[in-house]
Amino acid sequence: MSTIRRITLQSYTYPVPDPGTAIATQKRAGQVELSRFIVSIDTDDGHTGVYAPHYGATGHALAQIREMAPALIGRNAEHREQIFEYLKNRFRHFDKVGIASLDTALWDLAGKKYGASVSQLLGGYRNKLPVYASTTPGNKTPGGLDSIESYADFAEDCKARGIPAFKIHSFFDGNVKSEIGIMTAVRERVGDEMKLMTDPASSLRSFMDAVEVGRACDDLGFFWYEDPYRDASSSAVAHKRLRDFIRTPMLIAEHIRGFEQKADFVLAGGTDILHIDPELDGGITGTMKLAHFCDAIGMEIQLHTSGPMHRHCMAAIVNTHFYELALVRPNAWNTFQPPIYADTYGDQMDDVDSDGCVPVPEGPGLGVTYDWDRINHWETAREVYE
Ligand SMILES: [Mg+2]
Repeated sequence: MSTIRRITLQSYTYPVPDPGTAIATQKRAGQVELSRFIVSIDTDDGHTGVYAPHYGATGHALAQIREMAPALIGRNAEHREQIFEYLKNRFRHFDKVGIASLDTALWDLAGKKYGASVSQLLGGYRNKLPVYASTTPGNKTPGGLDSIESYADFAEDCKARGIPAFKIHSFFDGNVKSEIGIMTAVRERVGDEMKLMTDPASSLRSFMDAVEVGRACDDLGFFWYEDPYRDASSSAVAHKRLRDFIRTPMLIAEHIRGFEQKADFVLAGGTDILHIDPELDGGITGTMKLAHFCDAIGMEIQLHTSGPMHRHCMAAIVNTHFYELALVRPNAWNTFQPPIYADTYGDQMDDVDSDGCVPVPEGPGLGVTYDWDRINHWETAREVYE
């Protein structure tokens, strides 16, 4: 038995390689920076598991992990299911986003202990993951995705690279005309072979605006339609009604937190495809439970955003289509991926191969190597629980 002896939370702040693309930035001494954290779990028999969240490395996730970590000391590191159940119940008043990094570090630890990758432990299904290019939101300042035409140009570039699918994040200004304008321009430019999706990200101002854009999805043959209007996709009833008006499959539940809540949302008819975020929905344990639940009722899932954990989960999930390369735009660094890897891992446009796929990392655990010199150089705080 491997007993959890120590949990270390290391916070770090690093300069954004390309500030123009930063989604969440802080200005400090005139420099654009991002702050994230990394979790390490050590056992009494010398094993270590690590996870460095990407999109999910938020301050409130870190605050929850501070509350959760002390309760894990002395527990069996391989009782991931028991730990998931404990944390889900113990923190039932909250959204429980802190579970993910702890759970994933434990999966990494188990893989390293047994010399197997996480996807091997989960039961591998595929080694290559077809990508969809998921754009950054548009911007009104010059450069990047600054016009309807620039989206069409970028989609054409993605298609030329062999990327099979393209998802629009528009200007998020609630403008139905520009929303449909981008969709139409992209479809006309890339033709019928490329799968297209759109995600207004809850920016449309009314239900009827959502119907109008949904009908455009129908006319343009879109693959899915995601989180359209201002209810933030929180109502299963509303989306069941919306689904009655349109034919395009809807991808909803990005903003629904909780294992049981997401299952309820599905069974209430709120979506055609379930959106699961491994960094927000209980880590690898929570993600695989939901994916298998959906598989049993003939429903596909999509994993939200990108990262090593997402790749291992997708490698072992039958009922899913694409890996989200989030978030990309022309000629820019993808800020969703922190520059912390000492190996070839990356979620940049150039990391997609000529077949439009990214690989599943090989090697024990998550199969990635961290650049600890860089992380330690950028460290802003270190908290140790033992
Ligand atoms: Mg979305």
